[in-house]
Amino acid sequence: MSISLNKDVCTGCKLCLSSCPYGAIVITDGKAEITEACTLCGACVASCPVSAIVLEVIPKEQVDTSQYSGVWVVAEVHDEHLAGVSLELLGEGRKLADTLQVPLSLVLLGEQVEGLALVAGEFGADRVFLVQHPVLAQYRTAPFTDVISGLINREKPEIVLFGATPMGRDLASRIAARIGAGLTADCTGLEIDPGERLLLQTRPAFGGNVMATIVCRHARPQMATVRPKVMSKAEPQPGHEPEVIPVSVDLDERRVATKILEILREDSGSQVNLQEADIIVSGGRGLGKAENFKYIEELAAALGGAVGASRATVDAGWIPAYHQVGQTGKTVHPKLYVACGISGAVQHLAGMSSSDCIVAINKDPHAPIFDVAHFGIVGDLFEVIPALVKEIQRANGGD
Ligand SMILES: Cc1cc2nc3c(=O)[nH]c(=O)nc-3n(C[C@H](O)[C@H](O)[C@H](O)COP(=O)(O)OP(=O)(O)OC[C@H]3O[C@@H](n4cnc5c(N)ncnc54)[C@H](O)[C@@H]3O)c2cc1C
Repeated sequence: MSISLNKDVCTGCKLCLSSCPYGAIVITDGKAEITEACTLCGACVASCPVSAIVLEVIPKEQVDTSQYSGVWVVAEVHDEHLAGVSLELLGEGRKLADTLQVPLSLVLLGEQVEGLALVAGEFGADRVFLVQHPVLAQYRTAPFTDVISGLINREKPEIVLFGATPMGRDLASRIAARIGAGLTADCTGLEIDPGERLLLQTRPAFGGNVMATIVCRHARPQMATVRPKVMSKAEPQPGHEPEVIPVSVDLDERRVATKILEILREDSGSQVNLQEADIIVSGGRGLGKAENFKYIEELAAALGGAVGASRATVDAGWIPAYHQVGQTGKTVHPKLYVACGISGAVQHLAGMSSSDCIVAINKDPHAPIFDVAHFGIVGDLFEVIPALVKEIQRANGGD
């Protein structure tokens, strides 16, 4: 990539100065000048009202891939903790980095998040790029894109991983477009082709009917998003301290177009925290109508689990979409998944088939859900579920 500034066009308005997170623009003789501190993040390009700054992306075939090394995970912080998906990506990134024999780094942006660097070390990170600034206290697309794009251009990692979460999907695509890299969304498997050091990125395609393996041969870094709960966290290694590399940035709140006024959490109760739940009871079209989700709720309550749903029930308006499990819903990995009146379409299986133990209740003995179930009950769910609830309550000492 290269950046150029046309001094004949520049009016010396100084708007670009505060747009640069790395403080790499100065005014000399009434004109802007880009200094060696430039990371090619591209933040200044949009700030110039007269289009005097031009960022040129090198055609992907001409990228010197040998300059790129290292595996990065972009951290997501929730309620002052590293999100589960970031720890899962560290686990997967560790394997990729070991295969490539390169360091694994976490890119950690936020305010007062230095304590999380140690957690990252325990979960496998060798290094943490720590970027702290009040503007980065909450995720916002523009400043995160500017900072991480600049850091990637400067440090040149060969692989960058993001969670396939609302933040990761938003951020990864913006960064990929900014730096001219490829991006594979929603990967379910990552591996290294040892011969060519390429990242083999596997994800469902054609409505989940085939698994496609995608490679980015030319552009760097190779970037992927991975859904929460698809990869496993590494066993924490207490006391494993990473090298912390502070990155100083110069950000101006007045330059960020979006302001976060308030964060409203969905009042969904414990029954909907699907991705954290150890036990999930899901209902499908076999329930017949919305009111019958009470059967699912009762069984979930008896087992201390969360309520899931197939897309058919969500589409029918029987239950809100945040309960949906599957390819276009949530990917879950509970210890116990009970599928009630769910046929087992491939798109549903894509979200739950890695559950430790699957119990299926279906009146059709040929339903495909039985192909993945560890225990199958062929029967009418309106008879089976009340009997199960009664038995569980009895076993728990109830009536
Ligand atoms: C691009 C795409 C993405 C998709 N994403 C998702 C997704 O994320 N999640 C998802 O779930 N689906 C998804 N789907 C839809 C998916 O293909 C199926 O249509 C859906 O999963 C079917 O839901 P179901 O199993 O509840 O309903 P059905 O397939 O209609 O199955 C109902 C089952 O209930 C059983 N049954 C009926 N009555 C009873 C009873 N009284 N007792 C016991 N069993 C009974 C029947 O035997 C049947 O097996 C997607 C589809 C597409 C094309």
